[in-house]
Amino acid sequence: MRRYPLYIFDLDGTLYRGDEAIPHAADTVRRLVEEGSAVRYFTNNSGQTREFFARKLQTMGFPCEPGMVYSTATGVAALCRERGVDRVFCVGEPGLVQTLREAAVEVVNADAKGRVWPCGEASAVVVGICRSFTYALLDAALQCLLKGASYWATNTDATYPLEGGRLEPGAGSLVAAVSTCAGRGPDLVVGKPSPWIVRQILEETGVAPQDALLVGDRPETDLACGRTLGCPTCLVLTGVTRQAPPDQAFCEDLRGLLDPTLR
Ligand SMILES: [Mg+2]
Repeated sequence: MRRYPLYIFDLDGTLYRGDEAIPHAADTVRRLVEEGSAVRYFTNNSGQTREFFARKLQTMGFPCEPGMVYSTATGVAALCRERGVDRVFCVGEPGLVQTLREAAVEVVNADAKGRVWPCGEASAVVVGICRSFTYALLDAALQCLLKGASYWATNTDATYPLEGGRLEPGAGSLVAAVSTCAGRGPDLVVGKPSPWIVRQILEETGVAPQDALLVGDRPETDLACGRTLGCPTCLVLTGVTRQAPPDQAFCEDLRGLLDPTLR
């Protein structure tokens, strides 16, 4: 496979499973960086900060600084900046609240620890994974939307895979609850398969789409999010996908990225 100026890696199922690095992943990414490629990490997870993911990746041996990590929380922060929104109502976790606050966005319904409460008015409602979700929070989000707030979702993943094959309800199940009572879907979904964050990465790195390889374990999200922009893609079979769709470039594990005989 040819070397690309930029690699954009999915996290879960591509670089690690739960708290375990996938064999050969860290060595491969280190080698790509040593040989001059840029690397960015992109997860649909909105529940943690950039610093959290950077520490986790560093511990596993990946070359990573917080600025190399893109999550749907950093995506929402960038969206607020782009749209000039500085007050949001948040259905989310403390990591999302903290990321927004660090971007000078006021979260009208969160306390000092980042926990969200059913109160407040804002110009946008942000819905992501929220393990403290309640009927009262849903009701308060609905009232904001009925008053004309914009409606943004971090992602619409139905479930979230954990170790041992366990599935947890994903952000998409909470987005569905909000959409049902509001009678409309989100104005914008920030995470994969939306191209929004990949476009942001390309702009910030100054790399052309055809020079940025997207690497992930889910074709319909990890790879689709850049395909419409013209990015080449590579499926890796270490996560949820066991067989590559026809015409999809793939490798069994990340060592394939270093293999000159693969196309
Ligand atoms: Mg994945």
